[in-house]
Amino acid sequence: MIIMTIAFYPGSFDPITHGHLDIIKRASSLFDELIIGVYDRPEKQLLFSTPERVEMVKQAVADLPNVRVETYSGLTVDFARQIKAKVLVRGLRMSSDFEREFEMAMMSKKLNPNLELVCLMASLQYQFLSSSLLKEVAKLGGCLEDFVPDHVAQALRNKFSQELTESQRKGVLL
Ligand code: ADP
Repeated sequence: MIIMTIAFYPGSFDPITHGHLDIIKRASSLFDELIIGVYDRPEKQLLFSTPERVEMVKQAVADLPNVRVETYSGLTVDFARQIKAKVLVRGLRMSSDFEREFEMAMMSKKLNPNLELVCLMASLQYQFLSSSLLKEVAKLGGCLEDFVPDHVAQALRNKFSQELTESQRKGVLL
């Protein structure tokens, strides 16, 4: 009997960055199948809609044959069980992630003891890259190409030029 190891990489991906992609490529080489879970999170203020985030992720991972993209809501551990994932993948940046990930890992283990957490250390060049910082840069018209794939950079530029036009229309002073 062949046993496949399915890994699950959840997140908001608002939007997907080269930091996320680095984790995805490395994890996809470790496990038989990697399922990326784009969290459908109506309560959190996100820049991109769920279909927009999913589409950007799909385009970014199109060349990775063992990677699939899904949307989910509710508890991460429940969705992991549903898709028969044995491993939960997270990326760890030195400065910002450890305490929060540790806390979540303890809770996840209680809720689903069969799910093992595998944290991959963020690569050096992506240690300080976060979707939120990237959105600040995009809002202020900075260069995005080093941080995200081209289609994501374009989507960010479109989003902020759209926002600008809307505020101008409403007569908001910027
Ligand atoms: P969440 O809302 O779950 O924090 P994110 O999309 O921000 O969703 O992140 C998803 C996962 O990717 C988390 O494990 C996060 O630590 C990791 N991650 C985010 N940015 C980077 C990066 N630059 N390098 C490595 N991992 C990252």
